Amino acid sequence: MTPKPNKTYLMTPGPCPVHPDAALALARHVIHHRSEEYHALHASVTKGLREIVGTAGEILLFASTGTGAMESAVVNTLSPGDRALVLRCGKFSARWGEICAAHGAEAISVDAPWGEAVPPDAVSRALDAHPGAAAVFATLCETSTGVKTDIEAIAARVRPTPAAFVVDAVSGLASSAFRMDDWGVDVAVSAGQKGLMIPTGLGVAAVGEGKGGALAARSRMPRYYFDWTAALAAARKNETAWSAPGSLVAALKISLDLILAEGLDRVLERHARMGRACRAGVSALGLRLLAPSSPADGLTAAYPPPGIAADDLRRRLREGYGITVAGGQGELKGRIIRVAHMGWAGPFDVLTAVAGIEMALADLGAPAEPGKGVAATEAAFRG
Ligand SMILES: *Cc1c(COP(=O)(O)O)cnc(C)c1O
Repeated sequence: MTPKPNKTYLMTPGPCPVHPDAALALARHVIHHRSEEYHALHASVTKGLREIVGTAGEILLFASTGTGAMESAVVNTLSPGDRALVLRCGKFSARWGEICAAHGAEAISVDAPWGEAVPPDAVSRALDAHPGAAAVFATLCETSTGVKTDIEAIAARVRPTPAAFVVDAVSGLASSAFRMDDWGVDVAVSAGQKGLMIPTGLGVAAVGEGKGGALAARSRMPRYYFDWTAALAAARKNETAWSAPGSLVAALKISLDLILAEGLDRVLERHARMGRACRAGVSALGLRLLAPSSPADGLTAAYPPPGIAADDLRRRLREGYGITVAGGQGELKGRIIRVAHMGWAGPFDVLTAVAGIEMALADLGAPAEPGKGVAATEAAFRG
């Protein structure tokens, strides 16, 4: 047995590793959130997020996790009794429906099996069946299954209807392509601790200029902290309505600068390559991909080889090699592993993960030919 690992590797799809330059920003003096210095910081972060989200609309920042940003979208787009379509293909997309129900809105589910994406035709049929739907809620990257949904195609189906299109881009932002205005998405939400490479605690809502902006004015849901009327007024002054999580905003500025310096297209291409290589590597080791037909770019979900329990594999990775990967959620609890390659990650993180899985499988009595997973990963990076 190997001794306790001296070095650890966080490879979960949230939280994701914090970029060291962003971490340094967290160590700086706290600045006041109603100062000129903060206004300049907020303006810079707004500009950067607009570029990455692809919108000319307003950017709202909250001291919350991604779920808070999601809740803000529900309570500012719907009114009690409104009907909304919720495209469900896993735990996070189902959360949209739970938030709607908690606030007295009627969620109509449009479901795909876990491991698949909801197809655009299913959305069209649901829109035809529910012409009064006020909003459609979807998820760019379903983190519980590692599925990417074709948001661009679905947006084209929603655009001609009166419904607003609201997208959870929490784990998808800066790992998979997302162009909010070009595609016709009205509202998008995200959070800092995934592809944006900062610690948990910063929620983001992007509110488009078309249907998006009109929604908040019309919505009659009870709300206070997450009231977009207050948040929009503050954002126009480069502030937040309540105390800003200033240190996280400062860290986010560093991350956004890094992403834009690398170039958003290159960042997305890096994630696409890491996704392809990780899928090749784990497949070569006998794992079975959960989402072969529409895989996310920022994480890979797979079933372990027959006879190996997913949670044993995860424990061996953690205890033997210092590698933390995620397990399954909901109906997939104990059945899969999820390996993130999102944000502050590069090819050698994927190689580390695949090599670790290869060694852990051998420890658990399911040896593959040594180096087989690593070879397939390398080949995919070269190819
Ligand atoms: C991480 C994540 C969220 C938000 O989770 P929080 O723990 O509230 O930050 C929402 N949707 C998706 C797809 C996610 O990956």
